Amino acid sequence: MTKAMNRVFLPVLGTVQPLGEAAIPADPLVDAFARRIRYLRVSVTDRCNYRCTYCMPEDLGDRLVFEQRSAVLSFEEITRLVGVFAKLGVRKLRLTGGEPTVRKGIVDLVRQVAQVPGIEQVVMTSNGHLLGELAAPLAAAGISTINISVDTLDPAKFSGLTGRGDLARVLAGIDAALAAGIRVKLNAVALHGVNDGELVALCEYAWARGAIPRFIEHMPMSGGQLYAPTSELNAAQIRRRIEAEIGPLVASAGTGRDAGPARYWQVASDPRREVGIISAMTEHFCDDCNRLRLTATGALHACLGHDDAISLRDILRRGGTDDDLVGAIAAAVTGKRAGHTFERTGAGAPQKHMIGIGG
Ligand code: SAM
Ligand code: SF4
Repeated sequence: MTKAMNRVFLPVLGTVQPLGEAAIPADPLVDAFARRIRYLRVSVTDRCNYRCTYCMPEDLGDRLVFEQRSAVLSFEEITRLVGVFAKLGVRKLRLTGGEPTVRKGIVDLVRQVAQVPGIEQVVMTSNGHLLGELAAPLAAAGISTINISVDTLDPAKFSGLTGRGDLARVLAGIDAALAAGIRVKLNAVALHGVNDGELVALCEYAWARGAIPRFIEHMPMSGGQLYAPTSELNAAQIRRRIEAEIGPLVASAGTGRDAGPARYWQVASDPRREVGIISAMTEHFCDDCNRLRLTATGALHACLGHDDAISLRDILRRGGTDDDLVGAIAAAVTGKRAGHTFERTGAGAPQKHMIGIGG
């Protein structure tokens, strides 16, 4: 393990201790604020074929450290953990990354986790680059929805933002997913001075295909080092910009809403046109949080905005029982904070990288 890995990844582990058997609550997935966990996000790799400026830019220097393959959970380990979570009441599973489609055998993993009793929905977040080839097999294996990230429809800007991205491939990936019968949501990180002039174009692109556009407020991960306050474009500004071009938006309980964090809005004059906003920074949704996150190396995080985590991999690899895993999961849920603070810089920003936790 390199020095950089120690600095970046290790301090977040071990700050949550498993509960002893006697201390495990009757319902281990209900937290101290009566929030019930139903949704598990699993990062299946910390690798990616893109280098997005706000997530994992090329110039992250010695902090661009990938986990050794032996540190990453195997499919069997992921499936066993999913089984334990499902028995406790998790119903929705999101596979993310890094880029989940670069994990070798991803279709087999989807098939495995989709067959876990209790799991009702397996969805994915992807940059779309490999979906031209993979959408149909992923659909056949059990993926029902894919959130595909596309921040701009301008090919040059897209290459600049993603480092190695190819917009034409991503757009073909969107079409392939739709053709395979997969429900598609299009995610764009909203960035002032980058894509604020394209919000409606992105919406129109999605609507024309029966997809749902969503905008994400930029979150200050990586200790805030990739965060520029000047590029902040918040939920209210996003709504105002869309309204300026296409008229009033009204809050929607519509088709886009599921177990996730997005709040949905619809065009008042045409409710079929719906847009989601993930307003992590300015309009918190922590009161309704129903999620846990598992990294590719098996670290269970109860909140995206805090770094404390517990290693389920260590329990698995030292021969732990399902009850041992339940004790650790219960500890993470018991310790789940009321909400995040997401300070924009320095020690108050999460030190973990978005590429490691998967959004
Ligand atoms: N590689 C896949 C992708 O790009 O969709 C999945 C992983 S990526 C980390 C998940 C989502 O997080 C993407 O929609 C991406 O745009 C978003 N994201 C990455 N860094 C972010 C940041 N700092 N703030 C807000 N969203 C971010
Ligand atoms: Fe890769 Fe997704 Fe991060 Fe972009 S946002 S670098 S595609 S993991």
